[in-house]
Amino acid sequence: MRLPTALARRAIPALFAALPVVVAAQPPGASRATRVEPGAACPAGTTEIRPNLCQAPELPAPSILDYRPRSTLVTAEHKVPRAKYAAVDFHGHPTGGALDTPEALARLVAQMDSLNLGVMVAANNVSGDALKRTIASIQASPVARNRVRVLTGIDFRNVGPGWAEKAIAQLEADVAAGAVGVGEIGKGLGLSIKKADGSRLRIDDPALDPVWAACARLKLPVFIHTADPQEFWQPIDYQNERWLELALFPGRRYPADQFPSFEELMTERDAMLRRNPKTTFVIAHMGWHANDLPRLAKLMTALPNVHTEVGAVLYDLGRQPRAARDFLVRFQDRVLFGKDSYQPEEYPYYWRVFETRDDYFDYYRPYHAFWKLYGLDLPDATLRKLYYENAQRITPGLPRTK
Ligand SMILES: [Zn+2]
Repeated sequence: MRLPTALARRAIPALFAALPVVVAAQPPGASRATRVEPGAACPAGTTEIRPNLCQAPELPAPSILDYRPRSTLVTAEHKVPRAKYAAVDFHGHPTGGALDTPEALARLVAQMDSLNLGVMVAANNVSGDALKRTIASIQASPVARNRVRVLTGIDFRNVGPGWAEKAIAQLEADVAAGAVGVGEIGKGLGLSIKKADGSRLRIDDPALDPVWAACARLKLPVFIHTADPQEFWQPIDYQNERWLELALFPGRRYPADQFPSFEELMTERDAMLRRNPKTTFVIAHMGWHANDLPRLAKLMTALPNVHTEVGAVLYDLGRQPRAARDFLVRFQDRVLFGKDSYQPEEYPYYWRVFETRDDYFDYYRPYHAFWKLYGLDLPDATLRKLYYENAQRITPGLPRTK
């Protein structure tokens, strides 16, 4: 039916004028949407499509394992296979016999060369005869003798009367054998190790103080890992940032009825650090505060004997490139490079985060981080300190490759 011209002129603009209002209120499929109270979360299986309006997709949703979108972002990419300056890996775990034979050591050093790792610090917590054997093997290798150093371990089991004297004697013997520091002291200290009387050994137990004092006297940096990511103490629910990791490795959870809490462990650690100001400590994994740099800054400002190390927390630095850069510049004299688990192909991710200003690139272990990383573009002076100068300054026994 043709409308009279005058009526059409009036009716059609009115229709078009009304349309945006209809679209705003009723997006396609809105009849299937659920309205929620302001501030309320959308029900499971739906997502917010307009303020307070939640809707389920029309297709079955993939699991987080199967959703792997191709990024369409076109941006500069700078892969960094070799560190800009020969780096000391202060958190080295060359395992699987990597230090045991001349052939294995030659392979390790060839990999280090290709990554521009100047020195590998084996933080495998070995002591006594095992330590002597490892050092003898390294010394017998012409290519490794100036490239690999070893930390000694402390046996914290059965702390009680006479323990400290024995531990210090062993420490002195290990230093005489060539150990250059102590570590990696494992998370068992605090989480599970028991004293001779059967009670849990607290990290700040005064019985340990003579050993920390001996480390200061012997000029040994103490490399210590305490606790784990805070989410390992939380319920495995869909708000947990580490859901996938905990679902893959359920043993990583710390049920409250079996373990001290994250905060209890941090409180003990900090008390121990505070009570031993002459001992140089390197708290591994940025003290598990890479997700809370203000907290770590507060700790390091209060305690000048505390250094830290970046192993296995790259996903937290790379997701906050501006704050992480500010932190690493501010504490440039007290952060050491370390990698943890020895996988040669993973080091270049660290170089790329520290050295470039690249945007939005993948981390190497998707179960740690479902997000992307950004480069920090660290200044050269900071980079040199992070890569080797700080490790060399606090560890007199390290070879000087630069
Ligand atoms: Zn480690």
